[in-house]
Amino acid sequence: MGKSSKDKRDAYYRLAKEQNWRARSAFKLIQLDEQFDLFSYQQPTSCTRVVDLCAAPGSWSQVLSRVLIRGESFGRRAWMEKMSKLVTAVKASSEQTQHSSTALSQDMEELEISEDEKPKLQPRPNVKIVAIDLQPMAPLEGIIQLQADITHPSTVGRMLAALNPEKAEEEFELVDLVISDGAPDVTGLHDLDIHIQSQLLYSALTLAIRVLRPGGKFVAKIFRGKDVDLIYAQLKLLFKRVHIAKPRSSRASSIEAFVVCEDYTPIPGWSPALGRPVNVPEQIPAMMDEEIRQLPEQTRTIREDGVVELTFPRREADNLQRHKRWVAPFLACGDLDSWDADATYKLPEGHVSLDPVQPPTAPPYKDAIERKRQEGGMYGKTKKTNQAQIVTQPW
Ligand code: SAM
Repeated sequence: MGKSSKDKRDAYYRLAKEQNWRARSAFKLIQLDEQFDLFSYQQPTSCTRVVDLCAAPGSWSQVLSRVLIRGESFGRRAWMEKMSKLVTAVKASSEQTQHSSTALSQDMEELEISEDEKPKLQPRPNVKIVAIDLQPMAPLEGIIQLQADITHPSTVGRMLAALNPEKAEEEFELVDLVISDGAPDVTGLHDLDIHIQSQLLYSALTLAIRVLRPGGKFVAKIFRGKDVDLIYAQLKLLFKRVHIAKPRSSRASSIEAFVVCEDYTPIPGWSPALGRPVNVPEQIPAMMDEEIRQLPEQTRTIREDGVVELTFPRREADNLQRHKRWVAPFLACGDLDSWDADATYKLPEGHVSLDPVQPPTAPPYKDAIERKRQEGGMYGKTKKTNQAQIVTQPW
């Protein structure tokens, strides 16, 4: 597929290049922020220290750098202003009978935020952003980079040191937000992909718990499979509010979604470790959201082997008997008039396709391309399965 036809088939790919983002994923973080106010625009000082896991090529880090360091805001604040104007316009149309539907649609057209209306730059004080990935990443303004595997136990110490250079352990400062866009190389075998993805999620969560302040937020990519309610229940042990969100820039055809966890409540006396994740019984009782919020701390108990378990009072245990489940609340987010990730758009006359903003510095496929070039043709015979291309034997 040529650059131009990709521009046509993927509006976010085109927009990313036009707006100087290293990857179209930037829009996913921006749309999650629009919905959940991840960067706390009302209280900017409560979001200044952030860890970006699985960060390469770096578009999420670019968003962090532009919001926290440069003080830009293209998510929540602009969206809120637009919504309040929309409410005013709708109110006006219902109060004045003469206010025709044409007038309302004119009002709606005027809702575009002009340059003057855009919030002014507000750089935040004492910003610290650490970005971690297996792959090297081209440098970015104000971002501390770490090339590391988030599933390796040594990464915890390296991350803590990067966040707190020259500080003794007792002086370590915690962070406000941990985000993780980690994804393995997808095989197309859904069960396998979901399994590997959930390992990345647990590693991200373990790292997050080591550094998050009480009240902090955690956002991570998940693949929606049959275990999504279980993941939700495990996260509910640690965060007061948990949502599964699908930004509009994430293709509807993809099983990708994001868990957005707010208000971290640490479990006293429990320190997580890789390979010792939070645990809940396989069947999870049905509870109303209000009841979940009121779960007392004693219901989260620490087993001898260090695993945390949720124990249930009598009433919930009865529900468990009836095989009810805890169902994760699901939210689609992103402005309704934003681009549809699954649509093909007609490009304007004379459209010139731009090059990607930052090609990967050391992509994993580089070696294969090099070998293909040296051998003067295809590297390896490929056997087509349902969805994956698997290299079966080298020539
Ligand atoms: N958020 C990034 C951005 O906006 O540019 C895109 C992330 S990309 C979808 C997924 C990344 O996960 C890849 O760069 C990959 O190297 C990284 N990754 C996968 N497994 C990892 C692991 N075990 N440790 C660290 N990074 C990992």
